[in-house]
Amino acid sequence: MTAPRTPGSASTPDEVRERLATLQAGDLPVHTGRTLAYVYDSGLEEVDRVAREAVAAFAGSNGLDPTAFPSLLQMENDLVAAGLRLLDAPTGAVGTVTSGGTESCLLAVQTARDSRPDVVGPRMVLASTAHPAFHKAAHYFGVEIVSVPVGPDHRADPEAMAAAIDDRTVLVVASAPSYAHGVVDPVPAIAAAAAARGVRCHVDACIGGWVLGYAARLGREVAPWSFAVEGVTSVSVDLHKYGYAPKGTSLLLHRTSAHRRPQLFSSARWPGYTMLNSTMQSTKSGGPLAGAWSVLQLLGDAGYEQLTAQTFEATDRVVAAVEGLSGLSVVAPPDATLLVLGTDDDLDPFTVCDEMAARGWHVQPQLSYEGEPATIHLSFSAATLGHVDELVAALVASVAAARVFGPVRVDPEVAAVIAALDPADLGDDDFDGLLAAAGLAGVDEDTGALALPERMAEVNAMLDLATPAMREALMIAFLDRLSRPSW
Ligand SMILES: *Cc1c(COP(=O)(O)O)cnc(C)c1O
Repeated sequence: MTAPRTPGSASTPDEVRERLATLQAGDLPVHTGRTLAYVYDSGLEEVDRVAREAVAAFAGSNGLDPTAFPSLLQMENDLVAAGLRLLDAPTGAVGTVTSGGTESCLLAVQTARDSRPDVVGPRMVLASTAHPAFHKAAHYFGVEIVSVPVGPDHRADPEAMAAAIDDRTVLVVASAPSYAHGVVDPVPAIAAAAAARGVRCHVDACIGGWVLGYAARLGREVAPWSFAVEGVTSVSVDLHKYGYAPKGTSLLLHRTSAHRRPQLFSSARWPGYTMLNSTMQSTKSGGPLAGAWSVLQLLGDAGYEQLTAQTFEATDRVVAAVEGLSGLSVVAPPDATLLVLGTDDDLDPFTVCDEMAARGWHVQPQLSYEGEPATIHLSFSAATLGHVDELVAALVASVAAARVFGPVRVDPEVAAVIAALDPADLGDDDFDGLLAAAGLAGVDEDTGALALPERMAEVNAMLDLATPAMREALMIAFLDRLSRPSW
């Protein structure tokens, strides 16, 4: 790569464009329909193009002050109104555009906490399948998590969640659907239990909200999950997932403006202008907002209905095909457009993921957790539909190759060592050694490029043996080393 390591000397526009293209060539493809995590592909080139133009046109506008940039306020209210309408919200419901699902979840927790200043040691009740954004919120805002195991169908257990609510509970969370299993929690029973105790109930529909909203309109059977359910006080739904918007927008919707009030922040305690924010950001690019607004304008209900129909058709077809394959199984029949696959005992899911990658398909390994074996996650997009046969063929070939390759075998002694590792006993040098042993030594000193193993199955097999605390510590040590620039 020809890029200078730091912008010490100026470059020409063409040089910069070329370097950007070179850098991007090493990334996962965003638009081939073959990346089944991280990206959501409508397959509509012109929609993407107009959205990117909008991002660029508003990249310098600042959402910090809605009176200075009234265009942004208008677009935000339009997006929120579209979300409220889709999610069966009552009159008087309100919302905010955030930077993404995590920010929406963080603010739902912060708002619930601050609505109960009387509670000392606030808690939130989550199913064990809830998204890590809630663990991040717990970490940031000092709200204790009460994690409740899910039932055998991978859905939250409403009786157990009800029993976990106490006088310190400020929030109960349900998912529609959960990311890891793609199933919708029993929202009516959970919301009723929360309401009976006067506790807020947030539905995390970050990934599924947009697709489930349109699924109902298409006549697909969808268990109740939206504001139509009594007791649901807030819902998060990402536009940068199945809204097919460029990255950087999600909606946090509240049943009433009173529910949202603690989210709004103002500070007059300095000599500058009076600060007024609705989200965690202060200076806030108008780009993502304008991008999302443009996509909604272009698609309209008819466009989303069609994209949703395509995505469900792809999901149904892959599910039907997998049911006829040996080696793979559907872990939970999908309620939305996410699929979790299990493998037979003699077939290593991590090797299947590597083999899929070798064939240009990016699926996501999920480590074993609380007695559940490791699995493979696929998030389908509308653009998947045109490639279903190739996808199924790639799965068949990957399973066959993974059988030839054989499962990753970790030496039992090494396995015992890994399982017994406690991050509290380890120093920074130990992590250097562990990361090197795992092949995750990080950055190539000479080129500055990411140095990852060709195949990730061995790394995943070792991580799979580690405790959750050890997995977290290893990942943090890894990121720490990745992000140490040299100059
Ligand atoms: C993606 C996701 C989030 C977090 O959203 P980001 O946009 O990645 O920050 C939260 N909950 C669920 C269920 C998700 O799938």
